[in-house]
Amino acid sequence: MVDIQKEKTLIIIKPDGVQRTLIGEIIKRYEKTGLKLIAMKMVIPTGELVDKHYNVDPEWPQKVGTKALASYERTGKTPPSTDPLVLASNVLNGLISYLSSGPVVVMVWQGMHAVGIVRKITGSTEPLSSDVGTIRGDFTIDSYEVADIANRSVRNLIHASSSTEESEKEIALWFRSEELMNYRLFNETVLYDTNLDCLLD
Ligand code: GDP
Repeated sequence: MVDIQKEKTLIIIKPDGVQRTLIGEIIKRYEKTGLKLIAMKMVIPTGELVDKHYNVDPEWPQKVGTKALASYERTGKTPPSTDPLVLASNVLNGLISYLSSGPVVVMVWQGMHAVGIVRKITGSTEPLSSDVGTIRGDFTIDSYEVADIANRSVRNLIHASSSTEESEKEIALWFRSEELMNYRLFNETVLYDTNLDCLLD
């Protein structure tokens, strides 16, 4: 098997996705792309694990804080601080209580462009502006504005890795290597075979 087929991404169906009984619908969308499910479990994560998860990318606090500040400016609301790192710390605290509030479903999906394909189907972070047809756009209704006023995290059903570097670190955090299944799917021949010369007798 060539390496492009082995790109992996981590997906978490967050507690709101589980409570909204969307597990099957969400898995169906990823499964229909042709990506392969290679690990899955249900856990109630500790706050410590969630903290580690959002800190695998050392630049995440700066990125999320800058994004949060821009959303306050866009909606004309006064931010609690103009320091992106303070805003990021508020978002992180919200995420710790959100993700550890109940069971989540954690999965690893594998295949060509796994990270990009999953991000596209998942949709952008804020459900209010996520595209129609994406999971966040179709199945939930939250916004930065309402979440920030309530001082909680945006409830957007899913976490999906944003790069291959991030997915590797996240997978190592949530799964032991022996929990990742190494197997063949018949579908993969059609997706990856160069000549499709195996179809006819
Ligand atoms: P993602 O990769 O699309 O999940 O987005 P990020 O990594 O930027 O943010 C992680 C999570 O934090 C998001 O999925 C939201 O649940 C939450 N979040 C991000 N930005 C904000 C914000 O500005 N305000 C609030 N309240 N929550 C946020």
